[in-house]
Amino acid sequence: MTPTAKTLVSIAALSAALSAAAVSASMAKDAAFAIPAVAPPQISVETLDSITRELSSDAYEGRAPATAGEDKTVAYIIKRFAAAGLQPGNKGSWTQEVPTLEITGSNYTPLTVKVGGQALSFAYGDDYVAGSYRAVPETRLADAPLVFVGYGINAPELGWNDYAGIDMKGKIAVILINDADYDAKDESGPFKGKRMTYYGRWTYKFEEAARQGAAGALIVHDTFPAAYGWNVVHSSWSGAQLFVQSADNGMSNTEANGWIQKPVAEAILKASGQDLAALTAAARQKGFKAVPLSATASFGFDNAVKKTVSRNVIGILPGKKRPDEYVLYTSHWDHLGRCNADKTGDDICNGAVDNATGIAAMTAIAEANAKAGAADRSQVFLAVTMEESGLLGSKFYAENPVYPLARTVGGVNMDALAPGSAARDIQVTGGDKSELTAYVNRAMKDMGLYQSPEESTEKGFYYRSDHFSFAKLGVPMFALGRGSDLVKGGKEAGRAAAERYTVNDYHQPSDEYDPSWDWSGPVQDTALYYRLGRMLAMTTHWPNWHKTDEFRLIRDKSLSGK
Ligand SMILES: [Zn+2]
Repeated sequence: MTPTAKTLVSIAALSAALSAAAVSASMAKDAAFAIPAVAPPQISVETLDSITRELSSDAYEGRAPATAGEDKTVAYIIKRFAAAGLQPGNKGSWTQEVPTLEITGSNYTPLTVKVGGQALSFAYGDDYVAGSYRAVPETRLADAPLVFVGYGINAPELGWNDYAGIDMKGKIAVILINDADYDAKDESGPFKGKRMTYYGRWTYKFEEAARQGAAGALIVHDTFPAAYGWNVVHSSWSGAQLFVQSADNGMSNTEANGWIQKPVAEAILKASGQDLAALTAAARQKGFKAVPLSATASFGFDNAVKKTVSRNVIGILPGKKRPDEYVLYTSHWDHLGRCNADKTGDDICNGAVDNATGIAAMTAIAEANAKAGAADRSQVFLAVTMEESGLLGSKFYAENPVYPLARTVGGVNMDALAPGSAARDIQVTGGDKSELTAYVNRAMKDMGLYQSPEESTEKGFYYRSDHFSFAKLGVPMFALGRGSDLVKGGKEAGRAAAERYTVNDYHQPSDEYDPSWDWSGPVQDTALYYRLGRMLAMTTHWPNWHKTDEFRLIRDKSLSGK
């Protein structure tokens, strides 16, 4: 019997009923909360294509913050947001000013360490690097006592505090990079083994030292746990460093942060009658106590401070039932601007994939939501600036939110949607950190996708894009995208395409729009992001981080209003 139209319909209805039953059974297993069903969105290819083409054209000069390219970019995003049906998201305005600081150190003294009646001297650049996170004309540390603080971690949810019982006022913390179980083969251990947690990142080390009241913080460089050589530390700490301006001009930071080479640390510890290897072994054990060294350090430098202003663009679709609860979509509009010319003399880093596609996807999601009708919760669309300079636009918004973070349910970040074929799989960045996992599982089922294992978990990608600015302050954020098992060509084609982009086009003038692009992949990504956001916007549930996650206590505190 050949199937008639009627039998086809009834087979479809039967399988829909079966899969609905399967979904609700597995939901009961996955989650104690109900995740609402979401109708498949109509994602406009025309929107993805036209916005990517426009924002990556040479007229925008690579969208560098605080340039004419920014003015054009901001105006165009506002135009498209308004046309998509969004309302201005910042008290009647479409933009939020992001004031930034550029601090450039110069005239560095050597790092002088007095220990046991002798003075050791270490050269700036080859032996140590440092900088000020404070907007002050000069930085001088004089005879500050050194304290070896192990990994410099204070994780109350794990009962782990390397600073327990030590007063860091006026002192310099000497800190190991990464965390106590970084070299595990798997994810076992308090700090998730091989997988990077935020406690292992260098930015965390400086933040915690500042919270402890330290005058300075010096991280001991070590190539394997740091995952890069001294050359990378040296070059990235040379020249201007960018920060968001804060009301206190950065005075809540230490006076100076920096890095020392491992042999420098070994020499200082040896002269103090200690041994770096032995102290490192001790620091890997829970209950480790910081060790004051019989050594003091002095160094100093001058700072040139420059202030600039860039802008985030914010639109909102108000919710109809609970308008004071917010779901967030984030995507960065900025790119590198004029950059090193390639062989053809092209010196515009157009940033078509990175990240005109993300702005295009976010706008397409706004359009699809406007078409579907207001959701229960409000949906906020945030196009942030200065991602490429260190997540500064998202950091500024998170620290100065238009909509309180305690009323922000969660969010989806979109960064660099690769043109090309749709895939059979997705890749989640950061692992299973929160109850958002149940939403991802539901969206995968509804879209017929599977999840591929995450690659390079030791690299800590979760901590390197805009969603992290929000996660760090407690807001659960999705970070995921299409996998490499392409519908057209499978894994081989997927890996080859990713490799081509990374090697040839990433942060190069050749990251340009191509009218022959296949949009089926970005459409799939956008539909996935739409579903995740829409599910959050239609539920009463407040997803939280898992109990031992590094952001759980921060969220609990934020939600309790303390
Ligand atoms: Zn980039």
